[in-house]
Amino acid sequence: MLKELFIKNDFQRNWMNQLHQQEMVFKSRSIETDEKAKFPKENIQALIDMGFTKLPLPKEYGGENISITDLVLLQETVASFDGATGLAIGWHQSVVGELYEKKLWKEEKLTSFAKEVCSGALVNRAASEAQTGSPTRGGRPGTRAVKKDGKWVITGRKIFTTMSPVLTHFLVTAWIEEKEGMGIFLIEREAVGLSIEETWEVMSMRGTESHDLVLNHVEVTEDHFVEYYQAPRANNVNAWLLHIPACYLGIAQAARDYAVKFASEYSPNSINGTIGQLPNVQSLIGQIDLELMKARHFLYSVAQIYDDEARRPFITNELGAAKHIVTNSSINIVDQAMRIVGAKSLHLSNPLQRYYRDVRAGLHNPPMDDMTITKIAQTALKEMENN
Ligand SMILES: Cc1cc2nc3c(=O)[nH]c(=O)nc-3n(C[C@H](O)[C@H](O)[C@H](O)COP(=O)(O)OP(=O)(O)OC[C@H]3O[C@@H](n4cnc5c(N)ncnc54)[C@H](O)[C@@H]3O)c2cc1C
Repeated sequence: MLKELFIKNDFQRNWMNQLHQQEMVFKSRSIETDEKAKFPKENIQALIDMGFTKLPLPKEYGGENISITDLVLLQETVASFDGATGLAIGWHQSVVGELYEKKLWKEEKLTSFAKEVCSGALVNRAASEAQTGSPTRGGRPGTRAVKKDGKWVITGRKIFTTMSPVLTHFLVTAWIEEKEGMGIFLIEREAVGLSIEETWEVMSMRGTESHDLVLNHVEVTEDHFVEYYQAPRANNVNAWLLHIPACYLGIAQAARDYAVKFASEYSPNSINGTIGQLPNVQSLIGQIDLELMKARHFLYSVAQIYDDEARRPFITNELGAAKHIVTNSSINIVDQAMRIVGAKSLHLSNPLQRYYRDVRAGLHNPPMDDMTITKIAQTALKEMENN
């Protein structure tokens, strides 16, 4: 379904083929990754080696200038092999994509950082904190940056730092009292005072090793101060965040494929043939595919509107809506897939129970459902006022 309908060009086809060469290897590592909450380092290294992690860079910086549609297609494919790998590398792809699309840093810094990305650097934003919760809600970071003897000294603790075992760079948000604003600092892994505390003991996306990042008087020079915001970035339009719904759609696809295969093979002795011939099972398969179509068509439609510069300015709440629709559909799809398979889906050796736990994490990645719904309602009311 995906191949025929959603691959539009040779670039995408080539990348899909390259990724599919890794499919069985990535899948073979998922059980251990999940059971031991162990980061899938080999998967990420394979992606670096094939040039995947530099794809979002513009061509002049050594990348392929991928579109949001490319991002969504490739991310859902990686996530269908292994969810933790998909979400983890998705953060890197989206951070790099947004930085260069919006030119968020000075040119000199963009140029030097692109060289690092081309050499295998991995970056993620470390924004969440225990006291502020999701940064998208606009809370002020408890992490502080203070200027001392010409250097910035950063102290604080971040939670949920996905990909912490392999990140080479952390984009840390910190409150700057003297400016009464929020700074973002690009900090290298080797910085003195930076450490990872292994706190990631969760039921979902265990392999992402999204541990705490501890910053104990980390000193950096001025050129590490890369972004500044007077107000929180709560209303930032960032299409690169579509890597999130793409990830959960990939997991839902994997669950669907497993369940359909099971239905076409499982033959209990109460019937002749397989359970796939039963109306109750066909009803579930039909509903799953209907839900998958709805979710995927919506996601790709929004991605394509964003990729069309003439239509892009008219996007209001579609990005958040795509995340909402796809994530909730994916949760339903995994649930229905488990109903098809029955109690066998509960076995710890069965991938469906992992999909069920992993897909649930989507609810707690940005933007959160209640914020999306509120924004849609507020837009509707505002439009009415302006008419
Ligand atoms: C698998 C995974 C990977 C992640 N990776 C990263 C990462 O790499 N980097 C990173 O920075 N973060 C990351 N996060 C963190 C994520 O972005 C959120 O910050 C985190 O999940 C906390 O969100 P929350 O909604 O539960 O938190 P909170 O904001 O604490 O909200 C908890 C609950 O309180 C309510 N609530 C709180 N504040 C408000 C408010 N102002 N208005 C209305 N209701 C409110 C809501 O009901 C909400 O459900 C990751 C999270 C997950 C699950």
